[in-house]
Amino acid sequence: MRKRKCRICGEKADIYLKEHRLALCKKHYIQWFEKRVKETIKEFRMFKKEEKILVAVSGGKDSQVLWYVLNKLGYQAEGFFIDLGIENFSEISKEKVLALGKILNKEPYIISLKEDLGKTLPEIKNMGNICSICGRIKRSYFNKVARLKGFKVVATGHNLDDESSSLLANLINWNLKYLARKYPVLKEEKGFPRKVKPLVKFPEYQIKTYADWNNIPYIQERCPLGETAKLHFYKNLMNQIEENSPGTKQRFYFEYLKKIFPIFQSFKEDFLKGEITQCKICGEPSPSEICFLCKLKGEGTPTA
Ligand code: AMP
Ligand code: ZN
Ligand code: ZN
Repeated sequence: MRKRKCRICGEKADIYLKEHRLALCKKHYIQWFEKRVKETIKEFRMFKKEEKILVAVSGGKDSQVLWYVLNKLGYQAEGFFIDLGIENFSEISKEKVLALGKILNKEPYIISLKEDLGKTLPEIKNMGNICSICGRIKRSYFNKVARLKGFKVVATGHNLDDESSSLLANLINWNLKYLARKYPVLKEEKGFPRKVKPLVKFPEYQIKTYADWNNIPYIQERCPLGETAKLHFYKNLMNQIEENSPGTKQRFYFEYLKKIFPIFQSFKEDFLKGEITQCKICGEPSPSEICFLCKLKGEGTPTA
């Protein structure tokens, strides 16, 4: 960092946020970050202080920061970790979640795929695209655990890089069904909990800085089963555009939310066809008679 000065206190700056043309010292960066999380929660009416929030924590920096910062801001945030049984990766992730739980003085809920489904994620690998199966399993557990434990809200650690790159990918492919649900808060409906993403305003480097400066434990390794190459490609593309023109990532995503999303939303019902019924086995809301998890539990290949 060259001789930039913190905009708040005038001392030596420790970080320069190019997209905001804002230089801050460590202390004021942390304050700025927390205030921005609070504003995001308010702006999108994500939840209130009296609501209990189930934070899906993966052990990665984003969701660890989310769990930490929500507690610091005085929200009732409980951690929930799914042990997918991916060799060392899941072990280390779980250690990080437990380590943060110790710092926060909270015991996270943990579900093990091996114990609950009878198989680990690598053991169900041959059923199709592993990342999309994993995503569906995780979403199903978020819903189920929220319902069983009495949470109306589930929070995930999706950041600006995740959201802007998947927006780009889905726009390029005109994936309207997905775009109709692309918003930082999805209200509770048809028996599913409200879904919120309080970190959508922060690019990855800002979250990492917050984690490091607060000594928040997190796993550095990436999942060995791999983020889909396609998403990586779009993230790199977004980063190249951002490099050329700082602030684009943010503009692209937030202008979309403001100007385009309301148009798509009015067609939501057309895009999201299909009734929701109740799983005959576990009672979970599901588009088919037997839900995805119960199908996985049985021997059959899930199709719904
Ligand atoms: P990903 O799809 O891996 O990018 O994760 C997106 C979000 O899902 C993370 O920020 C977490 O909030 C949540 N998540 C991912 N993996 C897990 C896990 N194993 N257990 C609980 N939550 C998870
Ligand atoms: Zn300062
Ligand atoms: Zn079921």
